[in-house]
Amino acid sequence: MQPVDEGWQYRWGDSPFLADGTPLWLDEPDSDKHWHDIAFPSNPPGRKGQEHVWFRVTLPEGEWYAPALYIYSVDIILQVWFRGELLYQYGTFDEHGRGKFEGWPWHEIPLPDGYEGETMYFRVFSNYTDIGLWGEVAILDHPDLVLHIVSNSAESLVIAALSGLIALLALVFALIQRRQRSFASIALFAFLTGVMLLAESQASLLILYQPLLWDYLAAGSYYLIPVALALLLSQWLDARRPRLVRWLMWLHLVFAALALMLALLGLVNLSSTFPVFDGVLLISLALMVAVVVRNFSSLYREQQVFLFTCGVFIVLLILDMAVAHGFLPWGRVPVSWGALAFSLALISISVWHYGKTQQALHQLTVQLEHKVAERTARAEALAEREVERSRLLALESKKSQKLADTIAALQDCAGVEEAFQPLLQALPQLYLPIAGCFYRRNPGGGYDRASLWGRSAANTFPPSLTQDLSGLTETVLPVRSQDVPAQLCFLLRIEPAQFGNVPEGVLLLERPNLPDVVKDYGTARVVAWVYQSVEKIGITLSGLALRSELQRFSYEDSLTGLKNRRYFDELFRHEREVAIRSERPLSLLIFDIDHFKRFNDSHGHDAGDEVLRMVGRVLENCFRGSDTVCRYGGEEFTVLMPGASREEARQRAENLRVTIAESQVEYLGKQLGNLTISAGIACWPESSPEFDELFRAADRALYQAKAAGRNRVVTASV
Ligand code: GH3
Ligand code: MG
Ligand code: MG
Repeated sequence: MQPVDEGWQYRWGDSPFLADGTPLWLDEPDSDKHWHDIAFPSNPPGRKGQEHVWFRVTLPEGEWYAPALYIYSVDIILQVWFRGELLYQYGTFDEHGRGKFEGWPWHEIPLPDGYEGETMYFRVFSNYTDIGLWGEVAILDHPDLVLHIVSNSAESLVIAALSGLIALLALVFALIQRRQRSFASIALFAFLTGVMLLAESQASLLILYQPLLWDYLAAGSYYLIPVALALLLSQWLDARRPRLVRWLMWLHLVFAALALMLALLGLVNLSSTFPVFDGVLLISLALMVAVVVRNFSSLYREQQVFLFTCGVFIVLLILDMAVAHGFLPWGRVPVSWGALAFSLALISISVWHYGKTQQALHQLTVQLEHKVAERTARAEALAEREVERSRLLALESKKSQKLADTIAALQDCAGVEEAFQPLLQALPQLYLPIAGCFYRRNPGGGYDRASLWGRSAANTFPPSLTQDLSGLTETVLPVRSQDVPAQLCFLLRIEPAQFGNVPEGVLLLERPNLPDVVKDYGTARVVAWVYQSVEKIGITLSGLALRSELQRFSYEDSLTGLKNRRYFDELFRHEREVAIRSERPLSLLIFDIDHFKRFNDSHGHDAGDEVLRMVGRVLENCFRGSDTVCRYGGEEFTVLMPGASREEARQRAENLRVTIAESQVEYLGKQLGNLTISAGIACWPESSPEFDELFRAADRALYQAKAAGRNRVVTASV
C-alpha cells in the first residue's frame, strides 16, 4: 500500500465548465497561484460557508499490477478528473454542482496505465460540517485492497456477530424470564451495537453495495444506543425513580425517529443529523454519567461492571466522534473493542450468574433431599412406633387377662398359704418375656427363691436374699422412664401382716428391653403395669388373709385359743352326721372348774384368766388331734371325741381331771394352789341312743358329778 500523502493542493469553489463538459480548472494557465498546498485533502482553511472545493495531486511512482486509488471516505460527493476526463464519480452533481448525501462508502478508483507523475483532480461538494477526502488515500493493487478492507473489518465483524449472539440470548432470557425486564434492554443494546459495528465496517459494502442503506442502519443503531442505555438504567434504578434518565430516553427515541424520518423524506440530509446527534449525545451522556455516579453504590456488582464497560464503549464512541469532527487527527478508533469489552462483560456476568444459580440450585436440591429424608425417617419412625406400641398394648392386654385369671384363682383359695401355689405357678406367665424371680419369706425371716423365669434369670438373681433387704431399692410409681434401674424390685405386702411391716415376697425383674422407638413410653408403661399387678396380688392376698383371720376370730376363743361355742355347735352338727353315716361312736365331755367363783374372789379376775389359759394348755396335750376342745362359756369346756367309745372317753377325762388337779396355779410369781374340775361324759350310742339327747345327758352327768362332791368324772348311762 502506497499512501498518497504528499503534494496535495486545494482550491476553494467550483470550476467553470467548458462547452465540451470539461472543467476549466483542469488546464488553466497560470493557475498555480489559485492552488494552495495542504497536507491532506480535507477541510482546507478558510471555508467561509463554501460548499465546493477542488483538490489535486501528482500521483507518485509505483509498480503495481492492477493499481487502484483507495479513498477511505469522502464528504460528501466526489468527481475525479484525470487526463481531462471524468475518471470516477460518487453522488450526483446538478447544474450548480450540488448534490445529495449518498452515504459514506470507501472508494476504489482504478488507475489507467502510466498514471505515474500525472495530476489527478478531485471535485468535492459538501453541505456537511466537513468537506473533502477523509481517512486515508493510497494506491494499491485491487486484490490487496479487498484484503485490506476485509482485514480492517474482521475485528468489527467478529464482534458484531458476538453482539448479535448476545442479543439473541438476552432476548431468549427476556422471553423466558418476563419479570427480568433488563434482559430485553440488554438484548436491544447488544443488537444495536452489533448492527452499528456491521454497518460501519467497510466490509459491509462487500456484502451488499448499498452505502446509503448501511449508513441509515449505522445512524439508526447509533442513535438508539443511548435509548437502550437509558432504558436499562431506568430499570436498574427503578426504585429511585430516575425521571431524568427516562426523559433522556424519550428524547433520544424521538430524535432517532425524527432524524431518520426527515432524512428518508429528503427534508434533511442524513449526514447533517450526525453533528446534532453527537452534540445531544454528549450532553445526555454527561447527565447519565452523573446519575450513574450518584447511584453507583446502590447497583449490584454486575450492573456496575456492565456500566463500566458501557463507559469504556462510550469513551471510544466519543473519541471516534472527535476524530470524525476533526477535533483529533484521523485514526481508526477501536470502537469495536469497546463493544467487545461490553460483550465479554455480559458473557462473564452471565456465566457468573449461571454458576451462582447452579450453586443455589444445588444447595436447594441438597436441602430438599435432606428435608425429604428427614420427613421420611420421621414418618417411618412414627409408623414403627405405632407398630411397637400396638404390640405392647396387645401384650399388656394378654397379661392383664392372665392377671385377672390369676386373681380369680387366688380368690378361690381358702387362705394365703393355699394361694401361694397357684400364684407361684402364674408368675412366669405373668411377667415373661421379662426375666425375673420371686422370693418368699421363710420362717427364719430371710427370703428363698420360690420361682424363676427367663433365660438369664438364674445368673442374674441370687438364690436367696437376706432378711433386711437393705441392698434392694423398691421400684415405686411414678417412675421416670430414663431413671429405670437395671433391676426392678417390687415388694409383695400382705396385710394384716403377721410379722409387722415385713413384705411376704419380693419380685425382682430385669429392666424391660424394649425397641428404641417405644423405650421411654413403653418402659414407664410396663413398670407401671408390673407395679399395679403386684399391688393387686397383694390386695387379693391381703383379702384372703383378712378373711381367714376373721374366720379364726369367729370360731376361736381369744383368751384360751380354743374353739368357741359357735364352732362347737357347728362341729357337733357335722360330727353327728359323720357318726350316723359311718356308725362310729361319738363321745362328748363337758367339764366345769370347781368353785371358780371363789378362786376369782380370792385371787382376782386376772388370776382366774390365767387359770383358764392354763386349762387350755393342758387340754391341748391331753387329747388327740382328731378331738376338738372348745371353751363352751365361762369356766365350762367341752371336748368332742369322734370315734371314741365311752370308756376311752372316760379314761381321757379321768386323765385330764388328774392332770389339772395336780397342776399348780402360779400367777405373778405366786403359788395360788390347785384347782379341780368336775366332768360329765355321754357317748353315742352307748349312753344315749338319741343323738339330740347326747348333750343333755353329758350335762346331767356333770351336774351329778358336782352334786356328788366335785373333782370327779361321771359317765352318763342309758
Ligand atoms: P361350782 O363348783 O358349783 O361350779 O361353783 P362355781 O363358783 O365354780 O360356780 P358358779 O357358776 O357360781 O361360778 C362361776 C364363776 O366363774 C363366776 C365367774 O366369776 C367366773 N367366771 C366365768 N367366766 C370367767 C372368766 O372368763 N374369767 C374369770 N376370771 N372368771 C370367770
Ligand atoms: Mg359353772
Ligand atoms: Mg364352776
